[in-house]
Amino acid sequence: KRVLIVGSGGRENSIAWALSKNQSIEQIYVCPGNGGTAKFEKCICLKPNSEDKKIIINECQRLAIDLVIIGPEDPLAEGLANKMREAGLTVFGPGKDGAQLEASKDWSKALMIENNIPTAKYWSAKSKEEALEILRRFNQPLVIKADGLAAGKGVTVCETIEESKEAIKDIFSGKFGSAGNKVILEEKIEGPEVSIFALCDGEKLIVLPPAQDHKRLLDGDNGPNTGGMGAYAPALLINEQDLKDLTELVLIPTLKGLKKKNINYIGVIYAGLMLTSSGPKVIEFNCRFGDPECQALMPLMGEEFASVLFACARGEIENAPKLTFNSECSACIVAASKGYPESPQKGEKIVINVESNSSLQIFHAGTTIDKFDNTITSGGRVLSVVAQGESFDKAFDLAYSNLKKIKFNGMHFREDIGYQVRNI
Ligand code: ATP
Repeated sequence: KRVLIVGSGGRENSIAWALSKNQSIEQIYVCPGNGGTAKFEKCICLKPNSEDKKIIINECQRLAIDLVIIGPEDPLAEGLANKMREAGLTVFGPGKDGAQLEASKDWSKALMIENNIPTAKYWSAKSKEEALEILRRFNQPLVIKADGLAAGKGVTVCETIEESKEAIKDIFSGKFGSAGNKVILEEKIEGPEVSIFALCDGEKLIVLPPAQDHKRLLDGDNGPNTGGMGAYAPALLINEQDLKDLTELVLIPTLKGLKKKNINYIGVIYAGLMLTSSGPKVIEFNCRFGDPECQALMPLMGEEFASVLFACARGEIENAPKLTFNSECSACIVAASKGYPESPQKGEKIVINVESNSSLQIFHAGTTIDKFDNTITSGGRVLSVVAQGESFDKAFDLAYSNLKKIKFNGMHFREDIGYQVRNI
């Protein structure tokens, strides 16, 4: 079978790696991929990197692709899956309608309320005046969110009313383009965060192990928010029974809610949860795997993973083999460029004195290969080192000791990823 993965991050690199374990997968194309996927067994990067949907679809047809997996949220929100299905391709990833789960916070909040899915109280406003009036009425600091996709930069968790006002003005200043046409004001809630995931075929779902990521740039959860500096799975914050309960409370009602809207949701439902003193609440939905949670999760997938994605994409999850999970602990640490997240320095040569194996993986993200066959940094998050072990201490020790064999100028990583589950 021939698979094409859309995207260029560590997430897509790790999906390619997990799929390649399956004997029936003969070729994996990553479009556009990165410096890691370019050197990967069974893997070919498709260049030129074209954002043009028609060109990608033509390539899929020319290469007789059996399954397309769309990694990032932007092409999903833009309807790439719809166009591909219209062209007769089999796709894992929701259409434009389902992708609103992530692409419009107002839409997804409404879906949660309609389906009794626990979430923070919220109000939405279409103008600055309306938003400031809501804030005045409640007279307490509220969390302010741009409605649309803003690459994690559209959310301000405010300590004061003044900060909430500033955040509202900032969003309506036009800085987020159409993603800032509406604003969501949310009650501030507290508690540890954990992410849960389901693979869906439109009707049914399969739940994956929960994961925890680390959004802040610096140790001790300090510094600015990033795309994610590391992750681990399974998250120990929720046990097997909790996961079953959350499936009933959040994942199944979400899929049912989508179905009620006539949305045939094929792809990942990612629910970011906060475990508050009054129970778990959904903070956000994503319509794809998280990055870097995906890198921590993929090495835990049994080789059936590829068959399960095929079955989901065909709407036949019941025909899939049972998805098994490696019971080990998986640790992922991201190495970032100097200046990330504001202005990452690029073009640095990377020295990698490590080989991937069955319990250690190097997943590339912002890397490229230059004309001398050197691997060069080309983005903020450069690569991640992922390791598995029988305990989190062992997994993190293995990941950190190997990360230290990788070098590039300005390389930065957190030393305390997984502090929740390690003895540090
Ligand atoms: P991402 O960075 O995953 O793209 P996003 O832009 O979709 O995130 P959210 O996940 O909604 O934004 O929020 C980002 C972070 O802000 C959350 O992980 C959480 O830490 C914090 N946050 C969001 N909503 C609330 C809330 N109601 N109360 C307290 N903290 C919140």
